[in-house]
Amino acid sequence: MSQAADVILLGAPGAGKGTQAKLLSQELGILHISTGDILRAAVAAGTPLGRSAQAYMDRGDLVPDEVIVGLVGDRLQEADCADGVLFDGFPRTLPQAEALTRVLAEQGRAEPKVLAIEVGEEELVRRLSGRRTCRTCAGIFSLEALSGATACPKCGGELYQRADDAAESVAQRLRVYAAQTAPLLDYYAARGALRRVEGQGAVDEIARVALAALGAQGAD
Ligand code: AMP
Repeated sequence: MSQAADVILLGAPGAGKGTQAKLLSQELGILHISTGDILRAAVAAGTPLGRSAQAYMDRGDLVPDEVIVGLVGDRLQEADCADGVLFDGFPRTLPQAEALTRVLAEQGRAEPKVLAIEVGEEELVRRLSGRRTCRTCAGIFSLEALSGATACPKCGGELYQRADDAAESVAQRLRVYAAQTAPLLDYYAARGALRRVEGQGAVDEIARVALAALGAQGAD
């Protein structure tokens, strides 16, 4: 049985949050919520949320706080969140972090544990510009790992480059991260919730170190 504990993954775009979120949520037995995935699905489905979010996303800007806070607040009311949630890509601004602190307290949930995945800027740019995503299973692959393959190695789906992984948007996303999201490291450090892990190296090894940092049983 897992404990009802929430985890927040922090890290710049390209730090490996999506990849680690999938592994860690499985290991911890908690639900993975990616606000980026929710928004991309809304864009693909052409919902009002998707239509209002798309231009921000394509530019590499953040969707307004009230939209995201409302979306996550509603999602947290659903039954599958009861045993804990791993937040990937949320919160991204101080107002979002403060809103999440309030919502979790209102729902009687414990303070979340926060894991920051750290990767240098040059490596982030290299990873983001060489990243391909599967339209079917949302799997993420580097051009190196694909070594010329044009279909998803997991499900055979079509691979594409996200509009916001193009060079101009990558630069903007890194600027937005430094200005708006990096201050959350101090916010959570001050609350005694922050753990840091090095995000370069083998995916499984990073996950092992991350689980140990989160104090998960069986991590070592
Ligand atoms: P991601 O897949 O997490 O990199 O998110 C892709 C894009 O979705 C971001 O560049 C933002 O435009 C938008 N987005 C995702 N999560 C948030 C959030 N918490 N706040 C604002 N915008 C977000």
